[in-house]
Amino acid sequence: MKIPFNKPCLAGQEVAYAKEAILSLRHCGNQHYTDLCKKWFREKMGMKNVFFTPSCTDAMEMGTLLFDLKPGDEVILPSYTFSSTANAIVLRGAKPVFCEVKTNTMNIDVDKIESLITSKTKVIMPIDYAGIPCEIDRINHIAKRHSLFVMLDAAQSLGSRYQGKPTGLHSHLAAFSMHETKNVSCGEGGCLVVNEPSLVQKAHFVQEKGTDRSLVLSGVKSKYWWIELGSSFLLSNISAAVLLAQLEYMDFIIEKRKKVTSSYVNLYSSYADRGCLAIPHYPKDVQINHHAFFVIFDKMENRELFLARLREKDVNAYIGYMPLHSSPMGRRFGYHPEDLPITEDASQRIVRLPFYTALADEGLDFCIASMRSVLKSIYD
Ligand SMILES: *Cc1c(COP(=O)(O)O)cnc(C)c1O
Repeated sequence: MKIPFNKPCLAGQEVAYAKEAILSLRHCGNQHYTDLCKKWFREKMGMKNVFFTPSCTDAMEMGTLLFDLKPGDEVILPSYTFSSTANAIVLRGAKPVFCEVKTNTMNIDVDKIESLITSKTKVIMPIDYAGIPCEIDRINHIAKRHSLFVMLDAAQSLGSRYQGKPTGLHSHLAAFSMHETKNVSCGEGGCLVVNEPSLVQKAHFVQEKGTDRSLVLSGVKSKYWWIELGSSFLLSNISAAVLLAQLEYMDFIIEKRKKVTSSYVNLYSSYADRGCLAIPHYPKDVQINHHAFFVIFDKMENRELFLARLREKDVNAYIGYMPLHSSPMGRRFGYHPEDLPITEDASQRIVRLPFYTALADEGLDFCIASMRSVLKSIYD
């Protein structure tokens, strides 16, 4: 039996909805299925202004355009994130300023943000690693004190909750991903949640290639002009149809994935108690969407042993992100690996375990048994 690292799931109605979208002969963005996805976000998540984009990457690039980020500006983000978070900054000519993480969640270490703020800082971009919400209220507090914007890279946390409310509701902007590797997917897709009222109108313009076409569609104007810097940030109606089928199924997806987290916690906590490794800490005021599970081994050598022996059993775990600050691009911004020792060290000992919705139905016992025997061979 082979356990892949990830596998997309089918909710059931994807083909029917996509067929309907195709046959409707309305294939471009902001059509019927986008409206239904918007309705879902409004009713289910309480998010009023959601812009569906071809990816979370695009959503964040839309966000930095909305913030009017410019050369000379600085943005604080964790080094332990996907390249997209940093690209959104660098594409505007601004400078990424990398912050350490706290290894119990692998989210940004909020205590270290303020010392990175300069007169050039304009935005803070935290992420919700593995679907665990970051400490967004403390981040907002700091941002408010220094008049900064906050955009949350919520790529992994759709369906998670922070202090009882869905993630994505707490910051000026938040970006979700519906990539095939995430809980809810339409292949490639994403959305930008605009909570800051003063940015909503501009978001319509930026999404539509920098034009005020939205005002023509709503009957306010008779012709549209190029009025802003923008791009094509629209999800097609066909992708939105697939997305709707998955959104409607989100609660079931999370419920199934919960079983995977429980099995992992069950297996790994005894090793955590013995100090062999560390498992994620779930703060009291959060509810997770069971997106992923990570383990931080005591030593890099043990991580390598674990990965190799698991691979022999056809179970595919993964080493996670290479820190951005020590990557070739990070070095171009003057960073050295030793600048963020905590991130550097954790990234050499962390493993992301296989995690997908169907694993709950098939393969979980095999996966756990394989891991149990590998852990025994290393630690017992
Ligand atoms: C997946 C992911 C992205 C990219 O999402 P896309 O939809 O593929 O653009 C960005 N940031 C984080 C933290 C992610 O996990």
